[in-house]
Amino acid sequence: MIRIKGKAVSPGIAMGRAQLYNFEKEVIRAENIGEKSVEKEIWRLENAVKKSRAQLKKINLGLQKIMGKDAAFIIETQYLLLKDSHLLDEIRGTIQNKLVKAEWAIKQVEKKYLEIFHTIPDLSFKAKSNDISDVLNRLIANLKKGGPAAAAQQPGQVILVADDITPSEAATLMSNKRLLGLVLNKGGETSHTVILARTLGIPAILDTVNATDSIFSGDTLALDSVSSEVIVQPTPAVAEEITEKIEKFRQYKEQLKNLSQLPELTRDLHQFHLYANIELPFESEIVQSYGAKGIGLFRTEFLYLDSKMSISEEEQYLIYKNIAKNIFPHPLVIRTYDLGRDKSDPQAPRREENPSLGMMAVRLFLKDREPFKIQIKAIMRANSSGNIRILFPMITEIEEIRAIKEIMAEAKKELQRAGTFPKKDVKAGIMLEIPAAVRLIRHLGHDIDFFSVGSNDLIQYLLAVDRNNSDVSYLFSPYHPAFIHILKEIRTEVDRIGKEVTICGEMAGQPVPALMLLGMGFTNFSMNAMAIAEIKRVFTQIHYARLRKVVGHLDRFSSRTEIEAFLNTELLKLYPELLQRSQGSV
Ligand code: PEP
Ligand code: MG
Repeated sequence: MIRIKGKAVSPGIAMGRAQLYNFEKEVIRAENIGEKSVEKEIWRLENAVKKSRAQLKKINLGLQKIMGKDAAFIIETQYLLLKDSHLLDEIRGTIQNKLVKAEWAIKQVEKKYLEIFHTIPDLSFKAKSNDISDVLNRLIANLKKGGPAAAAQQPGQVILVADDITPSEAATLMSNKRLLGLVLNKGGETSHTVILARTLGIPAILDTVNATDSIFSGDTLALDSVSSEVIVQPTPAVAEEITEKIEKFRQYKEQLKNLSQLPELTRDLHQFHLYANIELPFESEIVQSYGAKGIGLFRTEFLYLDSKMSISEEEQYLIYKNIAKNIFPHPLVIRTYDLGRDKSDPQAPRREENPSLGMMAVRLFLKDREPFKIQIKAIMRANSSGNIRILFPMITEIEEIRAIKEIMAEAKKELQRAGTFPKKDVKAGIMLEIPAAVRLIRHLGHDIDFFSVGSNDLIQYLLAVDRNNSDVSYLFSPYHPAFIHILKEIRTEVDRIGKEVTICGEMAGQPVPALMLLGMGFTNFSMNAMAIAEIKRVFTQIHYARLRKVVGHLDRFSSRTEIEAFLNTELLKLYPELLQRSQGSV
């Protein structure tokens, strides 16, 4: 038995078999064949195509079960590629003309397609290249005896162990419900992979540095977020302890769920509102059972990445409409694609030197407007129930809002012409996550209806600290006095122009930072659904007036450590039981 320490970033306890991810990348070499073997190679190819089609069908059905019928399109593109006789003809032709094995022929065709697609600036072509790579790699895997996963994959649910995984990989892996837990060598607390894990209630331990060196696929692992460790091959006694902890954690979650029915009022009847952040459509079916009174942030970029960027207006319309229906009469805030940075297509050919300061979110789509307009149209069309709002991420300047308004006006006109514009306009808001936008609130606010504070990025850009870099994570603090100043500025400026504001970064779901925000006068909080009950438990036990007094003293301090210590001490004095963490919370 060995214990590996890490950082627990998504609460929970799990025990199961390890599955190492992405560790067996195969190198395909050029292998010539004689003319007599051509027929055999083509037969191998046809067989692999059949197997791949069957697998894709199965994945599609699995996705539909968990994410609803609308999920079909995610895999459909790849399925269709395998029906595309042109692609398969090219592979067959390469086998015949170059006398090579099927694997090498597939690689050659892939190379040719990628080269062509990468010269086309249109994003949807880059997406297609992604699909082609995925599907051709599946074909290659199926050329092996036993298929792709037979050798490596553990049956049933697994604890995934990897160096790192991208958010789009995470979305696919987590949505098939096979993940009991996640262990990564790397990772940052507010990375989108972690946000997804939290949302889906999958315990995760990061920053283990070398878990992949000490763990083998098939090992029994216990993942414990209370002690922030992964136990490899636990002894029977330790396994028993873990089993007990799993049961306690389950009971704790049940208790929290019961809180979901309580009114959103502090003990002195100050009103607050708790909403959910979601990344995948199916979550809209469960967030209300966690106590969410609406969806404060739907991160649609996961749809875009999952679908390999070929998602049509109609497909989006159906998804948005369905979520709006699930959550009605509560609000649904749909954020337009916040792509770029860590949420970019891993296969994209062009790498930016400094992606966090580069082409991202609205910057990307004001350059390539078509997919943006399609998304805006889908959102507008879906709003027949009237509870949808649209939110634009990463706003830096007023020119962006003007350009967005132009596109919205065009989209509306086109829908009206087609007779598909519902009576109601969608309310439009912007995210405050680049410090410059905060300084401009009174100007930016003229043309928009509401604001949403992305505290994850606001901290990142204000403090010049990469939200995904564990070396500087000590600086990534909601208690930094400069950040507290900026929060106050937001409160004052938004009040001055009489608009609404919601906090939707991770701090909204963390008890002490959330209490600090409440004490500053923020009333709307959007967070991963799993955090709602705990925040509600804490908020419903305090007196707003007392909290306000405590938070009023924060100006005295010039250091984040002092502020954190002060808040914890004062809260403990007022409510000794309030912050006692329960089993499994992090
Ligand atoms: C944020 O930046 O706080 C936010 C909510 O957006 P995201 O985490 O998706 O960047
Ligand atoms: Mg953000």
